[in-house]
Amino acid sequence: MSETQIHTDIDFSQPHGKQCGHLAIPYSHNLGGWANLRIPLCLIRGGPGPAVLLMAGNHGDEYPGQVAILKLWRELTPEDVMGTLILIPCLNPPASKAATRLSPLDGRNFNRCFPGNPNGTVSEMLAHYLSTVLFPMAEYVIDLHTGGRSMGFLPCAHMHLVPDLTQRARMLAATEAFLTETAFLYADVAGAGLLPTDAERQGKIVITTEMGGGETVPAAIHRQCQAGLHNVLIHCGVLRGKEKTRAEAGLGPARWVQALDRADYRFAPESGLYENCVELGEPIRKGDLLGQVHFIEQPDREPIRVEAHADGLVVANRGPSMVGQGDCVACVAHDVDPRELP
Ligand code: CA
Repeated sequence: MSETQIHTDIDFSQPHGKQCGHLAIPYSHNLGGWANLRIPLCLIRGGPGPAVLLMAGNHGDEYPGQVAILKLWRELTPEDVMGTLILIPCLNPPASKAATRLSPLDGRNFNRCFPGNPNGTVSEMLAHYLSTVLFPMAEYVIDLHTGGRSMGFLPCAHMHLVPDLTQRARMLAATEAFLTETAFLYADVAGAGLLPTDAERQGKIVITTEMGGGETVPAAIHRQCQAGLHNVLIHCGVLRGKEKTRAEAGLGPARWVQALDRADYRFAPESGLYENCVELGEPIRKGDLLGQVHFIEQPDREPIRVEAHADGLVVANRGPSMVGQGDCVACVAHDVDPRELP
């Protein structure tokens, strides 16, 4: 594998201190032949201890995590940190500015670019850098998501059911430390090359979230994201403080749900105008109407029903009203005790 072409002004070998800089990805455009795309990066090191890589903006149109990490960038000092904290508030600034999921520079979904390519597009080069330079430095990898413009999500921390049982047990505990009411085991139903999958393959303790959806995020979700993140960083041992359990925070036990079958993800059978017929968090029974597709050019035509294939809980639903055939319109999850799973 050839060397990365990404440069940085951060000195990762410094034993103590706070450095704010960037990763520079070579990128030519019509008005900038020798330009580079800059990804802000902050390294805070308080001494020996665990290393945590904390990121958001993997998908540009997912904002609560970006806000939460920008706050930590400004607030945290090396005295707050035991070990190393690497902050990347926005992995995809052009997409964040454009409020898009995909990079406007290369059209790529960054979360399908792993393990990346050092000689590929900007997204592929950055994925390769994370996979070969930053993941190996970290014990914990945190990637904060939302449903973006395409999906609404019940706010949750979520994870893959990794096969290694020791890694899985640590990920379950870390996911619960986010203190969300719902914790979610999810499957990859839309392609390979995800960031968390690559980090899990390297044995990392991976913590991810879906903090709501849409471009506008309510204050309650911002607060939940920031408080959960703070508790997770204490849990990882990188931030000083006392970790809270949900009970200590005055909350009930977390509800673990799973959507590990492809059938749990419901897709639009035809293009049209989509009506969500259930709310997020609503319990549903097999055969219940999740939503329906209407046809503005055929007013006489009956809408097509999208039904629940099984009993469960709606954890995600459709964002934009116009759907294309094959767009995901709902996710139905099921109660589970993750510690009972093989
Ligand atoms: Ca996302």
